Amino acid sequence: MSEKTIFQKIFDGEIPAKMAFEDEICGAFYDINPQAPTHILVVPKKLIPSISEMADEDANIVGHLFVVAKQIAQDLKLDGGFRLVINNGVDGQQTVPHLHVHILGGRKMTWPPG
Ligand code: 5GP
Repeated sequence: MSEKTIFQKIFDGEIPAKMAFEDEICGAFYDINPQAPTHILVVPKKLIPSISEMADEDANIVGHLFVVAKQIAQDLKLDGGFRLVINNGVDGQQTVPHLHVHILGGRKMTWPPG
């Protein structure tokens, strides 16, 4: 079996993380290197390595990540707005090969992103 991803180790309790939400489909935890006052990662429990590698039947899981992200943003009162980011592949600067949605909030974002 291949090596667990960092996020699987967090789900399995092998690496500590500050959880923001968890259900049977996904977990959300605070990023270890925050890029905004609020920076949370929403991660499926199923190992989908990236958006490029998601299967058609993963659509419900991926959709659920956005429902959860919206709810977290509401709960944390990011009422002025927030940004959801999915980095994909080398050029997308994805560093952890386990699909995740970044929730970034609490400051005004800039565009274009770096
Ligand atoms: P990516 O670059 O793949 O889009 O995002 C990976 C994110 O995971 C980065 O923002 C990085 O700071 C975060 N990260 C990496 N290792 C850990 C960890 O052990 N714990 C937590 N909470 N976040 C991590």
